[in-house]
Amino acid sequence: MKADLHCHSNVSDGLLPPAEVAHRAADRGVELWSLTDHDEVAGLAEARAVAEARGVRFLDGAEISISWREDASFHVVGLGIAPGHPALVAGLRAIRDGRDDRARRIGAELEKVGIHGAYAGAARYAEKSSLISRAHFARFLVEKKISTDVKSVFDHYLAKGKPGYVPHEWAALEDALRWISDAGGLAVLAHPLRYRVGRDALRVFLGEFKDRGGQGIEVACGAHTPEEVHECARLARHFGLKASVASDFHGPGESYADLGMTPPLPDDLAPVWHDLI
Ligand SMILES: [Zn+2]
Ligand SMILES: [Zn+2]
Repeated sequence: MKADLHCHSNVSDGLLPPAEVAHRAADRGVELWSLTDHDEVAGLAEARAVAEARGVRFLDGAEISISWREDASFHVVGLGIAPGHPALVAGLRAIRDGRDDRARRIGAELEKVGIHGAYAGAARYAEKSSLISRAHFARFLVEKKISTDVKSVFDHYLAKGKPGYVPHEWAALEDALRWISDAGGLAVLAHPLRYRVGRDALRVFLGEFKDRGGQGIEVACGAHTPEEVHECARLARHFGLKASVASDFHGPGESYADLGMTPPLPDDLAPVWHDLI
């Protein structure tokens, strides 16, 4: 089964509309697919309609931003959720409202270092989206030739310790896990080795994640090196978590991996979708 259970459309910070992402997944041979926009479920109906018309099995998903302890943040993907579940819908709306406040503060911080109009510029890139994310700021800074590509904007302007970084309080882990389970889904830790925490803290987090009902971890990640895939597999075994497959595709030219372009899952791991299809 060729699965890809993590990617984005322009409903959050991807470049393509949900229908185009769905066609691209089908064209690239994905057999089981999930659209997982940040803190938003508005693209799922369109994605599902096209996926099913193209013979691709579809799981409703969302990638939820959470804060943990003093200043760490993680992304938890909910798979197989009921998109209209009231607690989930209300929780995601609260996160999106917080994002707008964060975006205004990012714009104000960038003004201080002489980058003018960034909030309005990012909002223009987020025209089809209900939220403004750092990727939208990054596209504006590339347009203004302040950086050459999206990744270097993150490295020089938006990451922690850089001029446009603002701390932000996302959802609590227990709330996000409850929304996902109430909506009938499974919770999966996204891109485990892409957080700014040490390995010890990651393990403490995973222990809590598992204890509170988290069920899966992305192992075959498009953004991970082969060594990192092995490390994620070891974490899956150690914590008794099911394994997921994730390109984290955002758009042509902007992502490490295209749809379906993911490393193979180690044979001994239980795929997360066995409980969902
Ligand atoms: Zn993420
Ligand atoms: Zn993502």
